[in-house]
Amino acid sequence: MKNKWLKINWFKSSSDLFQQTQRKLTMQYSSLIMLFLVLFIVVVYTLLYIVILRDQHRELEQLTRQETRVISDYLAESARNELQGIGSQELVLAGVDQFFYYVTDADGNFVMGNEMVPNIREDLFSLVSGWVPERNQIREETIQVKFDERRIGGKEIKEQPKSDTVRLMIDGSPIFYNGQFVGMIYIGKDISFAYQLFQWLLVVLVSLTVLFAGVAIFISSVMSKKAMGPISNAFNRQKEFVGDASHELRTPLSVMLSSIDAIHMTDGVEADPFAQKLLRNMKSEVKRMTGLVSDLLVLARADSGGAERTLASFDVREEADRVIESLTPHAEANGVSLEIETPESLPVMGDRERLKQLMYILLDNAVKYSPDGGRVSLQLSEAARHWTMKVTDEGIGIHPDDQPRIFDRFYRSDKSRTRTVGGHGLGLSIAKWIVDIHHGTISVESEPEKGSTFIVTIPKEKAVSA
Ligand code: ADP
Repeated sequence: MKNKWLKINWFKSSSDLFQQTQRKLTMQYSSLIMLFLVLFIVVVYTLLYIVILRDQHRELEQLTRQETRVISDYLAESARNELQGIGSQELVLAGVDQFFYYVTDADGNFVMGNEMVPNIREDLFSLVSGWVPERNQIREETIQVKFDERRIGGKEIKEQPKSDTVRLMIDGSPIFYNGQFVGMIYIGKDISFAYQLFQWLLVVLVSLTVLFAGVAIFISSVMSKKAMGPISNAFNRQKEFVGDASHELRTPLSVMLSSIDAIHMTDGVEADPFAQKLLRNMKSEVKRMTGLVSDLLVLARADSGGAERTLASFDVREEADRVIESLTPHAEANGVSLEIETPESLPVMGDRERLKQLMYILLDNAVKYSPDGGRVSLQLSEAARHWTMKVTDEGIGIHPDDQPRIFDRFYRSDKSRTRTVGGHGLGLSIAKWIVDIHHGTISVESEPEKGSTFIVTIPKEKAVSA
């Protein structure tokens, strides 16, 4: 047999399924809300960014135009064709938020200028010196300024010595006199406040996003709970119905079974082979029905959480012997030999009846799906933290495509082959449930036409808290 392990896609209990669906819905709703929120915030932020910066651009361009005109007018009035020496005149250029202005002559030499913070002329002038802006070109620069006084409205105001990063928007414009280029004017506007505003806005928007994420998750969880309500109610009603129906069916079935036995023994019928045959068929069908009804009842109780669990410490070896003993006649009738390989005794903690039922289901399947002359073995072993049950057969095997589904309710792999051996596809669902309530795992290793091994692992500690 290939040593190929298959992780079983565990059959989720219904409450898990509802919780999972609800969680999924909550995730989907909240992601949708968050997506719109983030989109909204990005759009608002980008729009504000563009609008505010464009506004600053416009103001700076206006200021540059104004001050260029002031200088040109001054040159015209005083009939000068060069800028050299005008700095000592009464010409003062002052604008709102104007961080500096510099005027250079046609050769790029400093002629006049001023700045908001003294002692940084060299740094600032080097930024603009020689720069010939293209049409509508505006630069943005960041400079580190150390200052202890500031010039506001021509007055020098002492301040605490500090260092600041100043963001500047710089514009430049040529100055002409009678159509002749005489120099340049450069104006820098302090736009640090705009960037502070952007930073502040970002913090506010991010905080709002985080806050709304919480609100979105809460709203989504309420909405998904509401959506799941009717579905879960309907499912619960259906479960109750299956449980009640199976329960109600058991009594008439057992009455039918004992009536068939009684008819069997009546004088006229005993002697009639045809009637005997009919009764035998009836009896086998009623037994099959009784098995199905009792399987359904187990699963319905498992779904509603109403199945009683009795935890006890017991020797699983003893139970294994009993199961083998009760299955031997059936196995022999099918030409199958049963082997057992276990330690002398294996004390475990768990639900004795359920674990016995688990062994019975796995061994019964192994016998059912084995050919004449096949061998079936049950192995029990223990490790430090868990104990293991392995049921191996040399039967028809399970196709890899079917392996993940055999634990689903009413799933039977090859219907044409398995129909002949009876069963309703509920045995392994019950086995899976029994393993689940013991917090264990069940897996299958199988190859078609070679055989199958079912491996159950039950933790020693967790089973106690089941
Ligand atoms: P069923 O009553 O049909 O045996 P189960 O739930 O016990 O229902 O098993 C589901 C299906 O898994 C079976 O129909 C069969 O196809 C497959 N199966 C289970 N055990 C074995 C095995 N030992 N060998 C081959 N196939 C198996």
